[in-house]
Parts: sequence; structure tokens; C-alpha cells
Amino acid sequence: MHFNMPSHLRSVALVSLFLGSAVSSPFVYHRRPQLQQYLGPEANQNPSEPTEPYDYVVVGGGVTGLIAAARLADASYSVAVVEKGGYYEQMTGNLSEVPGYTELFDNSKTPPRDEVEHWWEVAGTPETNNRKLNFTGGKMIGGSHAFSYFGYLHPTVGAMQKWADDVGDESWTYPNTRKFFDQSMFFTPPNDTTRWANATPEYDPSYQGSGPLEITYPRWAQPFSTWLVRAFDALGVTHTLSYATGELFGSSWILDTINSTDGTRSTTWTAYVKNAPPKKKLDVYTFSLADKIRFDGKTATGVDVTRNLPDEPEEKFTIQAKNEVVLAGGGILSPQLLLVSGVGPAATLAEWDIPVVLDKPGVGQNMHDHIVFGVTYRVNIPTSSILLDQDTRWQHEDLFKENVTGMLVNPGPDYGAIVDIPSDLRNFSAEVKQDLAALPKDWPELIIVGFPLGHDWPNDGNYATLMGIPMTAKSTGHIELQSADMADKPKIVPKWLTSRTDLEVSVASLKYMRRVFENPALSEILASDEISPGTEAVTWDELEDALKSGYRSMHHPAATLRMGRADDPDAVTDSTGKIMGLDNVRVVDPSAFPFLPPGLPLAPAFMFAEKITDNIINDQKKKGRHGKHRTDL
Ligand SMILES: Cc1cc2nc3c(=O)[nH]c(=O)nc-3n(C[C@H](O)[C@H](O)[C@H](O)COP(=O)(O)OP(=O)(O)OC[C@H]3O[C@@H](n4cnc5c(N)ncnc54)[C@H](O)[C@@H]3O)c2cc1C
Repeated sequence: MHFNMPSHLRSVALVSLFLGSAVSSPFVYHRRPQLQQYLGPEANQNPSEPTEPYDYVVVGGGVTGLIAAARLADASYSVAVVEKGGYYEQMTGNLSEVPGYTELFDNSKTPPRDEVEHWWEVAGTPETNNRKLNFTGGKMIGGSHAFSYFGYLHPTVGAMQKWADDVGDESWTYPNTRKFFDQSMFFTPPNDTTRWANATPEYDPSYQGSGPLEITYPRWAQPFSTWLVRAFDALGVTHTLSYATGELFGSSWILDTINSTDGTRSTTWTAYVKNAPPKKKLDVYTFSLADKIRFDGKTATGVDVTRNLPDEPEEKFTIQAKNEVVLAGGGILSPQLLLVSGVGPAATLAEWDIPVVLDKPGVGQNMHDHIVFGVTYRVNIPTSSILLDQDTRWQHEDLFKENVTGMLVNPGPDYGAIVDIPSDLRNFSAEVKQDLAALPKDWPELIIVGFPLGHDWPNDGNYATLMGIPMTAKSTGHIELQSADMADKPKIVPKWLTSRTDLEVSVASLKYMRRVFENPALSEILASDEISPGTEAVTWDELEDALKSGYRSMHHPAATLRMGRADDPDAVTDSTGKIMGLDNVRVVDPSAFPFLPPGLPLAPAFMFAEKITDNIINDQKKKGRHGKHRTDL
């Protein structure tokens, strides 16, 4: 049977993945009228203009900023968090909280929404077949994790050894960082009473963790995933216990950052702050943009802030930091803040008349990212497409509310395989072979994840996609200022697919993903020919063309303030997150990764923020100023 996809839908088949645009939708969408004072009796969500300095000012109340802020406050320091957005419960209601709604942020049907997203239009290039693409990040307490997928994957032992070697600091090896992975998360075994017998994850019972973030398997598995288990088995992909052991090769159920009790999203906001013991002195300035870092010579002393609380007049004030300014704005906005504050390539600063604090060539350069593309079929098993039917959706909403089960407990990407491209598909050029050979042996080439796609497709059946995310990205991009004002968007030049390695690995990945669908283990559930990229794409050139017309970003910007050795002129931070050449300013977000390691960035971002904050606290203790100024506890 040949399934005829309307041409306007074909073009979105691949591009719908991980778009990240918030939507007004027919789904349940409750705004919470007023948040309680979650931060404890002495904490303040909308503090008035500060008259006293804080010990630390954290810029960004997202994934990494809240870890740093919570750990510093727990160590009895006074902390101000400056966050451009509001609380996600207020901004997006339960769209952020209910895992099954994540897809609503991830479709091509609605434009980005300024209230909850920082988004950037990326200009078309020959590598995108001249398509303009969107790049996005969260603008909320909780950051991008308030609408991202939930996947929790560690990097590999070899990748972390490369990290340690690149920055010249053995504390970054996997065994040495493991305690920081563990102190951020807490694992709850799968609920075997709510999952089917053929969806039972294998896991290491000794794997526990001691931290606040909940990691578990959803209480319901996607039917498509149970078929994928068979397909990857048939292709000889071995099972692995989970993707949180320092080894990635193999097929596995995917661990998610989900609260095991109520099934909602576990974020650094819920886990480290909202549901944690009250902090003595943690003030959260929401709807507040850090416009500029203040310097006295080369020493950071605070940040200038513009606050725009809803229905209030705009306020401008400075928040002073006695000890350090901690940057946690993410891979795009942390470098932008440094640039507008006078830290960056001198020529760029001169172009925008920004007084130079420090000529630092690497700021905003070396941008790493992941891309994603898919192969899609129509299938005869229920996928999240069934939620497009209102009665069915209400049934699943009831199941979620009543006993935390049903389709909405599951964010979608459920079962995956992490592999190298099989030998018969790797007729790579010499240059590509050389690039791949230079990577550590345990660094995989491809993540494939099953995705029972719903919302982006017509309500005329069920669709399933295999998403491919190449792990060996070699192309690096950069960000450019478009003004000297932090309120203006920078330009993002990601340069996706500009390296031959990325192109060849991606086309080979498409071929391998087709092979998975063509395996007899899946034939029983296929209800169409391949819809996307489509059966007409056969030759290498046709597949390359389909790839360039279909991929999009995973929105994983990293390494734009790359960590490195002191004698590396393009490195920006040292191995403790300090900006080299400056005092009292440190980076805790993935912009300071030396590179994007294999896996996905959330788990290493949690680890990174824990480890750098540990550096901050230890450095402060060494200075003998721990708690000295606190008289109010
Ligand atoms: C759509 C999408 C899907 C994703 N899916 C996954 C996934 O499945 N698995 C995974 O591992 N990773 C995923 N990621 C990536 C992951 O979310 C990021 O790696 C992680 O959020 C990075 O944390 P961060 O603290 O650097 O930035 P964020 O979490 O984005 O937080 C940065 C915060 O800082 C604020 N901010 C920035 N600059 C300023 C300023 N000057 N003043 C005030 N506030 C400021 C922003 O408003 C934002 O709230 C996804 C990301 C996106 C966007």
C-alpha cells in the first residue's frame, strides 16, 4: 500500500521535531492564578530593589542557575537569582508539568511565544536548503527544561577522559565527576504494576543517587517502543542497563526527569527550590533581565537589572555581589551578556562601541549543537495521535489525574538505541574516517529514539517516527551581537552540517533508520510506505537533499565560553568555571563545556552546575570568609 501524504504536510514531517514553540492548544491549559510563597518564610519572589549586596548574584533561573543558587543558599550564603521570565506554572500551566503535553511545545503549527521563549531565527544556508530555522530556549524559572524533553543520559567514560585531558584537570574524568551526577539525582525503579510486561526496563538496582531531582521511567510505555525492542534485537543491538552508567552503546528504555509519585516534570525548580527545605536568603527576581555585568577594573561587582513585572512600571537597579557573579543564562545568552559587558573579541566590542573590560577572543565562538531528523511511517498501533480526539484525550487526562497512568505520563521518546553506523553503510570519505577515528572508542555516532508523533500530524491515523541525533557533530558556529543592548537578540550562526563528517554521518544515519523500519520485526505494525523522507529519496544525493530540507536543531548550544587550559588563547573559562583574566565571575552552564559530549546535555548540565558550585564554595572557604558577614541567620 502506498500512503499519499499531502505535500504541505510532507515538508513538516521532519522539521516538526524539537521545535520548542509554545502553543495555544485544545489541550488542558490551566494557568495558576497565584503561586504560594514557595521559597520559605524569609525568601522573597519579588524582592524590592536591593539596598544591600548579596554574596552571590546568579544570572538565569533555569536548569543550572537554580542548582547553583540552591546549593549556595544551603551553604548559608545570600543569593539573588535574576530571571527574565516568570514561574512556569504561571506561564504555561500544566503544559510544562504533564509529560505527555511536551509534544505541544514541539510542533510546527504555531509560532514561538515571546512570554516563555527566547527564540532566534537562523538564516537559511545551502546546508538547510535555504530554509530559515528557529532556535529556542526557555524564558522561565526552570529554563529550557520547562518545555524540553525529559531524557536523562550521561556522557561516556572516554568522553569525560577527553574532557579532563582537554582542560588539563583530572577532576573531570567520569569516575571523578560521578559524585556530582549522583548528588543531583535520585532514581526510582520502574512501576511494574502500571507498565506492561514487555516494557520492563532492565536496571542496576545499586544505581540510586542522593540528590533532589527525580529520575525514573514513566508509569506507562508507548506501544511503539515495545515493537522497537524487537526490531533492535533483530538487528543485533545489545541491551544496556540504562544510559546513566558512563556507557552508551546498546538499546535501552530512556530514563526521564519525572516525579515518581505524581508523574509531573521534575525540574531544578521543583526539586532544588520549590519542594526543598526553605532557604534562608534566596531572592528570586522574576521578569528581570540582567543587562550588564558591572566591573571594577577586572573584578565583577554586580549586575544592572531591568525589571518588568506584569502590570507594574519598569524598574532599573543594580544588584551588587560581594563574592561572585554566577552566569547561568545558557549557551547563547551567557556569552551575549559577557559581550555587552565588555568581555569578548576586541574588534567585536569596538564595532558596537562597548568599552573593553577584557579582550577575550573565544567569547561567543565555538558553538556546538546537535541536530535531529526523522523517518516516519503511518502505523496501526495507538500512538499519541489518538490524543487529538477530544474524548480519548479526556479519558487520558482522567487517568493521569486519578492514578498517574495513561498516555500523558509519557513524554514520547521512550526507547532508543545508541550505535555506530554499521560497517556496510560506512563508505565514508578519508577525511570523515579520520575525524571519527580521533574520537574516544566509546563515543557513539548516533542516537535513535522512537517517537510516537501525534500533534504535528492530521487526525487521520497514527504516525511513528524514528528520530536520529548524530553524536559526532564537528561543525561549530558562533553568535554575533546585533546591538550593544542585552534586550536585543543576538544573531546565531550555528553552521550546522558544514563539516563533511556531519553530512556523511547524517545521511548514513538516515539509511540505518530506514533499515530499522524495514526490519520484519516491525512489518506487522506498518500501515503505509515510508512517509518521510519518502520512498522517492533513494540515491545519496536525494537523501542528502531530504536531510537538508528536514533537519532541525535540538537546541543544545554549548561550549560558547569554552573551558580550557591557561595557555589556550581561545579558551574562556578555567577548569573551575572562572573566566580567565577576570575576578569574581564564573560560569555554571553548558556554555563553559569544552565540547558537547555524547548523550544529551541535561544530565551533564546538572553535574556541571553541582561541580562548579562546589568549586565556588570551596574557594570561598579557602578565603576564610565562609558565613562571616551573615548576622541575620
Ligand atoms: C526544546 C528543547 C528540548 C530539549 N530537550 C532536551 C532533552 O530531551 N534532553 C536533554 O538532556 N536536554 C534537552 N534540552 C537541552 C536542555 O534543556 C539544556 O541543555 C539546559 O536547559 C541548559 O541549561 P541552562 O541552565 O544552560 O539554560 P536554561 O535552562 O535555558 O536556563 C537559562 C535561563 O536563563 C535566563 N536568562 C538568560 N540570560 C538572562 C539574563 N541576561 N537575565 C535574566 N535571565 C536570563 C533565561 O530566561 C532562562 O530561563 C532541550 C532544550 C530545548 C530548548
